[in-house]
Amino acid sequence: MGFMIRLLLALALTLFTSLQSQQPYGIAYRLAMPHPPSHLFEVAIEVTVPANDASAFLDFQMPKWQPGRYSVADFAANVQQFSARSQHRTLASTKIDEQTWRVQKQGNRNITATYKVFGNDLSGTYAQLDSSHANYTGGEVFMYVAGHKPDAVELHIEPPPNWRVVNGRTERSDQHDWRYPNYEILIDNPTEIGPDWTLDDLKIEGKIYHVVIHSRGDDGGRRPAFVHDLEKIVRAEIGMWGPPDFESYTFLFHFAADDRSSDGMEHLTSTQIIEPGILADRGTYYGALSTAAHEFFHAWNVKRLRPIELGPWDWTKPAATRGLWIAEGFTQYYGIEMYHRAGFED
Ligand SMILES: [Zn+2]
Ligand SMILES: [Zn+2]
Repeated sequence: MGFMIRLLLALALTLFTSLQSQQPYGIAYRLAMPHPPSHLFEVAIEVTVPANDASAFLDFQMPKWQPGRYSVADFAANVQQFSARSQHRTLASTKIDEQTWRVQKQGNRNITATYKVFGNDLSGTYAQLDSSHANYTGGEVFMYVAGHKPDAVELHIEPPPNWRVVNGRTERSDQHDWRYPNYEILIDNPTEIGPDWTLDDLKIEGKIYHVVIHSRGDDGGRRPAFVHDLEKIVRAEIGMWGPPDFESYTFLFHFAADDRSSDGMEHLTSTQIIEPGILADRGTYYGALSTAAHEFFHAWNVKRLRPIELGPWDWTKPAATRGLWIAEGFTQYYGIEMYHRAGFED
């Protein structure tokens, strides 16, 4: 063969091989929590690989950080009892580094990995499962299949009896199944599962705002006033930015009543805000509104106008970005400004 023909064949083969390795897998997650006092989430990941997939193994990896968090977290340390099987046959698996479990396919196309995750920290970074609720963000619970983060994924949640599930991509009550365009969207959804959270819906300039509140202590009858005040903040921010580019947005509040749990984190279609106090307490009430003003501002400022270094992401090491501090400083300033524009004082 002439040199050019050989070169073209080599190029075609390279292209074919790389296309082949990028063929999407079928990836379906199941999340159960049959024993809440154990603090153990039970995860199954069912992977279906194409018939011509040539790889000998699958790598399942725990990320080292959460979207928006930018600091390392050792989620893999909370993983227990990892195993893999195809049909009823156990497949060989080994932990090859601190975040990766390698499963030998042994010629199988349908592989299910299962493991448990310990979680007892209401923090927006780690998960919590106890007899009152389950709360997680995503990256601390779900492994991804290495090389297949861009693939569409399905999620099925099996809550304990009488517990209800809600997150920023809930479209109807009693929803237990989701389909996400990729892994990164899967883990960008703080999710609350419990028997006694409340839901108030606001319709503001054509968009729906879901206000989910889990009050562990006395709410002092303040919930209607709180939702009304939150509406003022949303209106002030829309007044500055114009209409947001989502159809619905979810505020997920915890009033933890433990003097300890505290967080606020922005996500694409939601925010999770955790206050250590109770809604009946005046300082907690206004603290939660002020945090909401900051986090909702991020819906425009970091999640959509974000510095390029922030995504798509490599979950094996934390993101380093200079733009972040500009985005965060800007949000800090305007979050307070919006809180004031909505009519509240420090
Ligand atoms: Zn809760
Ligand atoms: Zn922020």
